Amino acid sequence: MEKIRKIIPEERNYTVKCECSMCKNTTEVKVRYGDYLLRFAMNKPAQDCFPYLSVPERETIISGICLDCQKKLFANNYDKKGNWIGACRLAMQ
Ligand SMILES: [Zn+2]
Repeated sequence: MEKIRKIIPEERNYTVKCECSMCKNTTEVKVRYGDYLLRFAMNKPAQDCFPYLSVPERETIISGICLDCQKKLFANNYDKKGNWIGACRLAMQ
């Protein structure tokens, strides 16, 4: 098992723009550029590339679906205040 790298906010210098397939809004998720390459050039699993993102943020990177639409789609994964409480994976790779 590889140790999880510590990432400081300044290292997340690359903005991934994800267009939501449902509402067409663009969500920007900041990641480290090297991790972005791992994901999109080498197709590594998103949870390995971006361990520092929240699950909903990773979901946005994987499927493009924005945080608001995720709340509608996966309502069971959120509490009444809109905090993510889901325990299972939301989506396919
Ligand atoms: Zn949306």
